[in-house]
Amino acid sequence: MSVPADADQRRAIAPVICYPTESLRPAPLDLYHAARAVAIEVTSLRIAPREAGAFTVPAGSFFRISCPDGSQVGDLNLFAADNLRERFFSGKTRALHGTHVSTGDRLWSCLPWLRPMATITADTLDWYDTDPHGGRVHDVIGTRCDPYTHHLLQGQDYHNCCHSNLTRALAAHTGRSLAEVEPHVHDVLNVFMCTGFTRDTGQYFMKASPARQGDYIEFFAEIDLLGVLSACPGGDCGAEHSSDAAICHALAVTVYTPPKGALDGWQPPARSGYSGTHGLG
Ligand SMILES: [Zn+2]
Repeated sequence: MSVPADADQRRAIAPVICYPTESLRPAPLDLYHAARAVAIEVTSLRIAPREAGAFTVPAGSFFRISCPDGSQVGDLNLFAADNLRERFFSGKTRALHGTHVSTGDRLWSCLPWLRPMATITADTLDWYDTDPHGGRVHDVIGTRCDPYTHHLLQGQDYHNCCHSNLTRALAAHTGRSLAEVEPHVHDVLNVFMCTGFTRDTGQYFMKASPARQGDYIEFFAEIDLLGVLSACPGGDCGAEHSSDAAICHALAVTVYTPPKGALDGWQPPARSGYSGTHGLG
């Protein structure tokens, strides 16, 4: 390996933020919190360990994902309720808000829509911040555990990876075949998962989630949503996933709707204003 004479100089160049977000209008959290304070529970769903469940949330309502029984990681997919092609864009959410998300951050939809699908309005793990290993909670780094990577690395079939759980739940909800819906399953928000990158090799690491029974994260639905959530076979993801070895718990999803008038002046966000001509229109 030959090292250039100015290697240290090149390494010392100061970084710049790829996507400064100062031009984004901040989420109106005061309005959302006031609406949440008067919202009432309308539906709830319990998701069994190593399974997934689907739920819908009307625009202007809230949904809470919680650990009713104990520490448990969830893999979340979001779709526009009327259009499976508009789905959560984990990569751009990461580019805009960082590797992990919390209160005030938004979950953005894919191109060409690129609009907030949901805004995080509460998070009982806000306090965790960054641990000594560089770990943080609720990541948009990981993709989802899947049987293809498991087969690649272990040479075995395992059918309760989050990817398969999400696929089965989406098929059941839409009445479509597994083959039809599988391409719609996408990179997730890893709810309650504690992750980071190792400093020496830059590898993706996980450690036991700090979530405990009763912890929750809440979202405001910016558009009509279809959510699909998997209770990861990794449990708290402290040791391994893609097997039945870990202790797993259920997850709960609860939807809350505020009364009419609680969101006066608020409107669902419009899709991206880009012309879509790509220079040829
Ligand atoms: Zn998983």
